[in-house]
Amino acid sequence: MRRIGVAILGATGSIGVSTLDVLQRHPERFRVVALTAHRDVESLFRQCLVYEPDYAAMADTNAAEQLQDRLRSVGRSVEVLAGVEGLERVAALPEVTAVMAAIVGAAGLPPTLAAARAGKRVLLANKEALVMAGPLFMAAVREHHAELLPIDSEHNAVFQCLPPTFVAEGLDAVGVRRVLLTGSGGPFRVMPLDRLPEVTPEQACAHPNWSMGRKISVDSATMMNKGLEVIEAHWLFGVAAERIEVVIHPQSVIHSMVEYQDGSVLAQLGNPDMRTPIAHALAWPQRLTSGAAFLDFTQIARLEFTAPDLARFPCLTLAFAALAAGGTAPVILNAANEIAVQAFLERRIRYTDIQAVVQYTLERVNKRPITSLADILDDDTQARSVADEWVVAQVGGLP
Ligand code: NAD
Ligand code: MG
Repeated sequence: MRRIGVAILGATGSIGVSTLDVLQRHPERFRVVALTAHRDVESLFRQCLVYEPDYAAMADTNAAEQLQDRLRSVGRSVEVLAGVEGLERVAALPEVTAVMAAIVGAAGLPPTLAAARAGKRVLLANKEALVMAGPLFMAAVREHHAELLPIDSEHNAVFQCLPPTFVAEGLDAVGVRRVLLTGSGGPFRVMPLDRLPEVTPEQACAHPNWSMGRKISVDSATMMNKGLEVIEAHWLFGVAAERIEVVIHPQSVIHSMVEYQDGSVLAQLGNPDMRTPIAHALAWPQRLTSGAAFLDFTQIARLEFTAPDLARFPCLTLAFAALAAGGTAPVILNAANEIAVQAFLERRIRYTDIQAVVQYTLERVNKRPITSLADILDDDTQARSVADEWVVAQVGGLP
């Protein structure tokens, strides 16, 4: 059997490492063609030694030079590429069949779009790319006959609960009434509201069920993550916001559900381990072992469900509002959130300031219709500078 060539954008991150873990369980089926990272030379160097890709790309040009030197010094002939162009190139290599899009944040958009335009099987973890460029990205997938498989556990679950014909026919034709996205509620689900202003980055990153990168961990605490996922679901499945329901499910066993016109509800269940959706998307329509532990129903005492408390999770409301506003509003939401989360992780603002930064930026930056990638990147830049102003103005006031 010819092995499937895989490129991993964001190989050194949480999803990247889990993807490599799944791939190395199936060396007869997959070949690692390219690995990329931002500027962590040491991690990408070690991955190159272990997985022997043909290409390695680093977004940071200096880091790429250092990686080149390190690899030469041990006699490894890996072709090293640099910058956004380098990332875009590996995403479109002819020997690559599947691209794992696992860069965090807006930085992932250009190479993920390049993968779609090159007609690849795109394994989409980088939800920010779709939040920012939904209509543009989906059009590129259709035009270039790319295959889009969601890695985000909720969207992967929904995908598994839908018949394959939904892609061509749409959700109405296959009888879908609603999509139900589950979310754990994160580490602050039951914390008294008056304690939230004092929570630390460490507390916010200590997710009760999932181990993830820092940015998505904070997004899970604020439930901006679920908000971004609502926008992601809207574009992935062509489902209107009114037909997407967010349900708090603290055990993270049901990863999401699809409700049909006849009253049936299909759910996908499993242990919270990203290797399950990764293996699903790599093998689809077949199945592969992933390394994830199997679910033991006798160990699950109960499964609980509640409605999200919007006073606790204002970011969820902001995300629904941005989706309703349309155009580049989700771009502005996402950019402001990235700035706010980074500032919170650097202890420059409080946890509860995150929503304030996002709301302020959404009110100040004018949205417009999306006609090109340039519109998106312009509004992303503008929103970042407005959000930064808020942070800078606030920092002096912090104790
Ligand atoms: P992470 O922070 O652990 O890793 C991010 C990766 O992106 C790293 O390899 C890093 O080098 C690279 N990167 C960061 N900034 C970059 C830049 N400017 N240019 C190029 N590369 C850059 O993040 P993660 O938790 O693996 O998440 C990755 C994506 O997957 C995010 O969009 C996240 O929302 C999504 N996702 C993650 C999980 C999870 O369990 N971790 C679950 C669902 C979705
Ligand atoms: Mg998710």
